[in-house]
Amino acid sequence: MKFNTMSLSAPILKALEDKKYENATPIQSKAIPAALEHKDILGIAQTGTGKTAAFALPIIEQLHLQEKLGNHKKQIKALILTPTRELAIQIEDNFKDFSKHTKLNNTVIFGGVNQNSQIKTLNRGVDILIATPGRLIDLMNQGFISLKHIEYFVLDEADRMLDMGFVHEVKKLVKIIPQKRQSLFFSATMPKNILELSNTILKNPVKIEVNPVSSTAETIQQFVYMTNKSSKKDLLHYILEDASIEQALLFSKTKHGADKIVKNLKKNNITAAAIHGDKAQNQRQKALINFKSGNIRVLVATDIAARGIDIDQLKYVINYDIPNISETYVHRIGRSGRAGKNGIAISLCEPEENAFLKGIEKLIKKKIPVITNTPFPQTDKPMTAAEKKEFEKEKQRRKQEFFAKRKANKNNNRRR
Ligand code: AMP
Repeated sequence: MKFNTMSLSAPILKALEDKKYENATPIQSKAIPAALEHKDILGIAQTGTGKTAAFALPIIEQLHLQEKLGNHKKQIKALILTPTRELAIQIEDNFKDFSKHTKLNNTVIFGGVNQNSQIKTLNRGVDILIATPGRLIDLMNQGFISLKHIEYFVLDEADRMLDMGFVHEVKKLVKIIPQKRQSLFFSATMPKNILELSNTILKNPVKIEVNPVSSTAETIQQFVYMTNKSSKKDLLHYILEDASIEQALLFSKTKHGADKIVKNLKKNNITAAAIHGDKAQNQRQKALINFKSGNIRVLVATDIAARGIDIDQLKYVINYDIPNISETYVHRIGRSGRAGKNGIAISLCEPEENAFLKGIEKLIKKKIPVITNTPFPQTDKPMTAAEKKEFEKEKQRRKQEFFAKRKANKNNNRRR
């Protein structure tokens, strides 16, 4: 569906043209017309489907019309609640882009940074507020924010919100905002507790489901390297020897692990930076900017930090570990191959993770092709003594070949 066939005003269509968006993604095609009819929406969609525009465009359109009809009051009329600061920043960027030819303004608030500049912007008056729950409640308690005039409410990434322990904050906010409003509720998954929460927020919602979490995009090729825990570090370097992997987003289970991976990559002259909850806001932003501008090759992220990362051209996702929750795998690899582009997802699986891999294959209903022909294969498979001897010999040969090549590369680099 083309945007110019939807009931969107000229300034909004112009903004879409500036962004070179022509065709709506499936969630946009379904959600925008329904939301423009002022219906509540229950959207089951993961990041990468274009859900931000799906809720941002109808809100901007409706507020723009109000503004044209004479409502110039600068008070918060739309609230977008999202779990992480990266997501909040990304959503604000989208609102800014889409509303740039209108008179609407918006701002973003999140914790972990000084509140003064946020308060200053709020005091100047905003139409649309994008917020993480903690800072929002904090500033409300201090009297800097009133939600009395909310007409549009978006709860984004509801499942992640509950995962992060924000359930009380969300419930509290839902009680405070006016009953008479339009609500748009988005979640990548819809377990019972999320559905129950949505029932307390939405009235007769239109249910829209795209790319259910169990389906991995057809445009993403997936591979798995079976290996051992102690070999992952070397296997990663082996994989990154392939220069066609210009850049990759690498997932690490833990923050500590992420830092260790970065250290090891740097030791091997591979530019890398980590992005996770223990990093200061400016460090995370810097890492992201450096990655987007191509200054670093590997961005190492934990699952929560990665949720807000929006990189248009990302082709490679590497799972340094296999997540024990199968849906997490689907979210991770969904970071590549966005908006229909091709992506490649590479996973490194150690014996303790074999069961997780099986769980993922069950969820996505397909077998992930295994790459075995490496110097660092998984070794605890049952084998006859002769097979084992042959296997160890071959493994040693490949290892020696790889380390010799790496040494030669290093020497070459030093000479240059
Ligand atoms: P989202 O799921 O909102 O995070 O969007 C995923 C990615 O798709 C972002 O990089 C958007 O800029 C991009 N995108 C969203 N909608 C469209 C569209 N209609 N045409 C082209 N790109 C889009």
